Amino acid sequence: MKIEKKATGLALKGDSTRVVWGGEQENLPYRATQVPIVTSAAYAYNDIDVWHDVAQGEEPGFIYSRMSNPTVEALEQKLCELESAESAVAFSSGMAVISSVLYSFLSQGKRVVSTRDSYGGTNKIFEEFLPRMGVDVCLCETTNYAEIEHEILQGCDVVYLETPTNPTLKILDLARLTQAAKQVGALVIADNTFATPLNQNPLLFGVDIVLHSATKFLSGHGDVMGGIACGEESLINQVRHYREINGAALDPFSAFLILRGIKTLALRVRQQQANALAIAEFLLNEPLVETVNYPGLPSHPNYDIACEQMRGFGAIVSFVLRGGMPMVTELLPQLHYAHCAGNLGAVETIYGPARTTSHVENTLEERRALGISEGLVRISVGIEDSEDLIADLQQAFTYIR
Ligand SMILES: *Cc1c(COP(=O)(O)O)cnc(C)c1O
Repeated sequence: MKIEKKATGLALKGDSTRVVWGGEQENLPYRATQVPIVTSAAYAYNDIDVWHDVAQGEEPGFIYSRMSNPTVEALEQKLCELESAESAVAFSSGMAVISSVLYSFLSQGKRVVSTRDSYGGTNKIFEEFLPRMGVDVCLCETTNYAEIEHEILQGCDVVYLETPTNPTLKILDLARLTQAAKQVGALVIADNTFATPLNQNPLLFGVDIVLHSATKFLSGHGDVMGGIACGEESLINQVRHYREINGAALDPFSAFLILRGIKTLALRVRQQQANALAIAEFLLNEPLVETVNYPGLPSHPNYDIACEQMRGFGAIVSFVLRGGMPMVTELLPQLHYAHCAGNLGAVETIYGPARTTSHVENTLEERRALGISEGLVRISVGIEDSEDLIADLQQAFTYIR
């Protein structure tokens, strides 16, 4: 795959090394080998002038943990290294970061262009909350470049992209759409949750802000919620200001769990995407399956773009089961090595229909309008042995047949 890593000092190191060591060295007091969980809400100063200078941002230091916290800051530094970013800011969930980034840059009279395929919660922000604020929202057919580019060139303030999309696994050409956005001076935001920073670095394609639900692959164990945005310092400072005032800060215990999770990100994702490809290939040959969505399959309609902008294809596979929801209801309970749950990116394999996972916030009519079939099942492939996962699917299909 074509991407050259940027010639910064850190980017020269391998992914597995960066996930382990990134952002930690400067955050290890007491000769600790692990970043400590600093639970203090506030930080004390006897020198009122120093206190004032720190509060004004003129001196480094901490004032109050809604503003900044040492454990959270270590996580932010780790993400900077993984996304080749200048600055990062962490939030209490993926939706907190998405809404805060959008609300930081959009206000009455502004215009945002995005696509119909995106995480259901994100879609709700576009359909429900931004219009309420007087923001003009334009959602295009996801891979219709003529339409998207036309709408961008009409003039807009923000272009919001998610690739691969949840749960349809469509791929958007980041370089191409960023180029269109730059022609009208729009800010480009990309949700990189599905790809992970190991497979795709949107900032390298000119995207301004990359964000993640850290609840997913970054933390990797389904036991914590968080979100993080990365980009140029001047932009991230605006998002940080929004967090300081609106308050959806990440707590230090969660920051610690996410930091710990990231250390095994490279190992996990390597195993998960090898398993995902094996499962996608298995599903291709299953007569009860109508469609298989996985960007690593040469038959995927956006395979060429995926090869250009991704270093790996990720661990999410989705498929449409013939017979729709009644068949899904039969199939899923037969699986042994699978949680049926609304999460993804964990070490365990997780199955879920769009109706109860990514698009649980949408009505049946809304899902229809978005082209989300009721038979669509998302698999977040875990780190188990692929032979076991495939045998499990095989027995479940035999049962429903
Ligand atoms: C889960 C998810 C989100 C939302 O993140 P939360 O941590 O659940 O708030 C946003 N985007 C994508 C692609 C997701 O998968």
